[in-house]
Amino acid sequence: TAPVADKVCSGRVLVVGGAGFIGHFVAVASLLAGRPTYVLARSASVTKAKVKALQDNGAIIVQGDINDKECMEKTLKELRIETVISAVGGEAVMDKIPLVQAIKATSSIKRFMPSEFGHDVDRAEPVEPGKNMYIQKRKVRRLIEDSGVPYTYILCNSIASWPYCDNNHHSEVLPPTDKVHIYGDGSVKAYFVAGSDIGKFTIKALDDPRTLNKSVHFRPQSNYFCLNELASLWESKIGRVLPRVTVSEEHLLALAAENRIPESVVASFTHDIFIKGCQINFRIEGPDEMEVGDLYPEERFITLNQCFDEFYARLLKGKQVGVEGGEADEVIIAAPVEA
Ligand code: NDP
Repeated sequence: TAPVADKVCSGRVLVVGGAGFIGHFVAVASLLAGRPTYVLARSASVTKAKVKALQDNGAIIVQGDINDKECMEKTLKELRIETVISAVGGEAVMDKIPLVQAIKATSSIKRFMPSEFGHDVDRAEPVEPGKNMYIQKRKVRRLIEDSGVPYTYILCNSIASWPYCDNNHHSEVLPPTDKVHIYGDGSVKAYFVAGSDIGKFTIKALDDPRTLNKSVHFRPQSNYFCLNELASLWESKIGRVLPRVTVSEEHLLALAAENRIPESVVASFTHDIFIKGCQINFRIEGPDEMEVGDLYPEERFITLNQCFDEFYARLLKGKQVGVEGGEADEVIIAAPVEA
């Protein structure tokens, strides 16, 4: 399906990690916004279905590795890139340092969005091994700020899906149909954002002067759910009540302590979100932070209800798109359904 561009924007965007989970949503949103979109992919990734789909829909694929500072500097200059969005995976957090150095050396870059796309890493204190990832992300933040590179941090909270405690790409797996795991008493709330909205609002914020050197938090009220409510929503779709199995705080901590990557990282984040309430235990009030709904009050988020309708439709079709560890069996690039 051809992307439906709502307007044509100037300003060349380079998306790093367009073959990845979050990066693909961002690259698709950039194409849908009509932006000249370049996607950096490592040599082994250029033939992936997700990269091919982006290319077929107008993205220009650039082969490269962000660890190669000289190559990145050359790429940014030669392609006259204006904005860079990195969505490299958690294990590659420190790889962003050569990228920051290349961006600093390319003085024409107007905005850099590093690979955040989660919680406020300066506030949240998950247990290990998630904590180590946050420490690394904090180091990258300080490097960016000290370098004077213009930046925006996208803090989109959880992707809309059933939050499996050992799977960091939840939305690629359907919610369970046998039983639901409830972390703790299931009463701690969180914000769930559709992947396409993560992409859409990231691209909107990209050259918004109000987001320069700021953190943008995603807190859509329509998608503010605790696990008990999330389970009820899913049950209303499938038309039956599922057994609820409590996963205790101790169990999550034990999973985290196993130090298996990425499962233990996800367990530590699950503990931070659904036991400690890391998404909701602070107010957005600093001078350098804003909420995306305040920035774009005219824009509506895809509701969790709509997301779960889509999961149910997929369940009926009997397929799970892009299952963890495998290649998507189909990659659809189309404008998301508006709320
Ligand atoms: P993935 O592992 O799915 O994808 C990472 C992408 O980065 C891949 O395309 C990979 O390329 C590319 N990449 C990695 N290293 C390099 C490199 N050196 N040079 C060029 N490209 C590279 O990442 P995720 O989407 O899971 O994570 C991205 C961000 O989103 C992270 O900051 C993570 O914490 C966050 N996140 C947030 C979630 C949420 O619910 N809010 C959920 C999941 C992630 P290749 O294909 O070659 O391996």
